Amino acid sequence: MFKKWYPVIDFVKCTECGTCVEKCPHGVYAKEKAPTPVVIKPEKCIYKCHGCGNRCPVGAITYVGDNTGWTPPNGKSSDNVDCGCGSGCGCGGNC
Ligand code: SF4
Ligand code: SF4
Repeated sequence: MFKKWYPVIDFVKCTECGTCVEKCPHGVYAKEKAPTPVVIKPEKCIYKCHGCGNRCPVGAITYVGDNTGWTPPNGKSSDNVDCGCGSGCGCGGNC
């Protein structure tokens, strides 16, 4: 069953650094729009992945459907970025 989960960018906070666009290995963001984060394929986002949100330096990313209690670490989370799944998604172990 498809679970609704995808990133939402707060463009008031976003500095358009491009980290999220660069780091997501699943094609959720439009690479051609980088460094501006434009979500073009929300259905490709991995359920409960917080990879881009963990890397965002300003905490501008939250997720539709997130009831995990996760809060944006403003780029300060380094201990759970590598989940080891091999995709480099940085989900924190949830993909
Ligand atoms: S949450 Fe993970 S899969 Fe979804 S856009 Fe961010 S890095 Fe990509
Ligand atoms: S990582 Fe954060 S600040 Fe950088 S482009 Fe993405 S949402 Fe904006």
